[in-house]
Amino acid sequence: MASTVQLTDVGHIISCLGDVTLHVPASVNFEQSDVLNARVRRVDGEYLISISSNFDPTINAVMGRLVTSADVLPWLPLDSLERPKGAELLSRLCMEFILAHEHGHIIGGHVDQLALEKAGTDGISEFNVVSRDDQHATYDERSQAWEYEADTIGAALLDKQIDELIEAVKSQNLADNERTFLGAPEIAVEHVGALAIAALYVLFRLMRRTKDELILVGHHPDPLVRAFTCRDVISHRLMQRYDFDRGRFREMMIYHLETFDWAMEDLGYAASQMADDDGVNQVNDALKNLAKLQSKYHHITNNTRWTKWSMSQI
Ligand SMILES: [Zn+2]
Repeated sequence: MASTVQLTDVGHIISCLGDVTLHVPASVNFEQSDVLNARVRRVDGEYLISISSNFDPTINAVMGRLVTSADVLPWLPLDSLERPKGAELLSRLCMEFILAHEHGHIIGGHVDQLALEKAGTDGISEFNVVSRDDQHATYDERSQAWEYEADTIGAALLDKQIDELIEAVKSQNLADNERTFLGAPEIAVEHVGALAIAALYVLFRLMRRTKDELILVGHHPDPLVRAFTCRDVISHRLMQRYDFDRGRFREMMIYHLETFDWAMEDLGYAASQMADDDGVNQVNDALKNLAKLQSKYHHITNNTRWTKWSMSQI
């Protein structure tokens, strides 16, 4: 990549996340639906997160196919059992992110705010079905700010899962010629961090395709912008916990983003334009705008946000 996507300062958002518990419980159910959707609402004083039952098998299937590509992790033999094993780990991380993103809407105060504004609200849905003509009417800035904020909180809530993967890599006892999906212990932090962002990018591309194919309305930024939002958060959090080579992390992340992108193109997903300067500039502009929107709408949502949250919730 010729130029660089600059780091946005997300510290002010995620430093508010303390070790506290939700003031009312959140439960999770799976809804029978072909659409890759998730939603969160308040029902009888509890938060209820509903995830489409189709999400898990779809992510597993796509990830399973992506890791059969020779572009992805080319140092692993194509018949290596490490590939399907790696696909499983990345799929699980994606599912955990979906759950964490929905928790992000709760912690961000979005769900409470909607309940406050409208009795009997359906809560927040990642995608809504509307007619093509209504698309512009239903677009709104605040929803976009909320999606961005839910991504930042969601990515911050992946600390535990990322730590577990790093720990698993570090505790491996590898022979000199042994290659694993998650890589060598001495680059565990850089490589796991980079792979996690590439996995989330795959998830965002999948969700974008769902939206485009079914003509749904969603307020998520472009998949690449979402991936870099998560990059900002995950690298910020990693820096607080580990000493690692940031240059190496960046190179690995770009490498995995590009190679997963090629593999997705082979699966019939339209290519994204990440490799050129224009693409990078667009991502930088989008990130700056989103950070502005987030601070614009941050203070007007209700102040139950950030409180009583526990990492053990997910
Ligand atoms: Zn959302």
